Amino acid sequence: MTTAPEPTCNACGCELIWSGATWSTEHYRCPQCGTEKVTRVLRFDPNPRDTVILSILWKDRRPSAPEVEALRSFWPEFQNQSVDELMSRFAVTEEIEIGEMAWLTAEPLVKRAWELGIWASYY
Ligand SMILES: [Zn+2]
Repeated sequence: MTTAPEPTCNACGCELIWSGATWSTEHYRCPQCGTEKVTRVLRFDPNPRDTVILSILWKDRRPSAPEVEALRSFWPEFQNQSVDELMSRFAVTEEIEIGEMAWLTAEPLVKRAWELGIWASYY
C-alpha cells in the first residue's frame, strides 16, 4: 500500500504535518510558519439514491460572520433571519444539521457551499 505524500505549505513550501480530522475534513499545519490547510474528504461512497444528512462545520468551532452570510445565501431557510440572530443561534454549536435529502441533491449543494467558503458535508 502506498501513502500519498503529505501536502506542502502554500506560504513557505515546507512539508505540512497532519493535525487532525473531522468526518468531512483533514487538517494540516506547517511546522515552520503555522499556516493551516484543510482539505475536504469523502469517507464513504453513497448509493445515488441514499438519503444523507447535510451539515455544516464551523471553521473555528463557532460561526463567523462571513460563514453565516454565506450560509444565508446558500440556504433560503436562513434568509429571514439576520446574521446576528443566526450567530447567536449557532454560537454554541460546532456543527449544524441542515436537513435530510437525497445524495443526488446534497452533493451539488456541498460543492456550492465549499465555493462559498463553508465547510459542508453529509453523512
Ligand atoms: Zn509554511
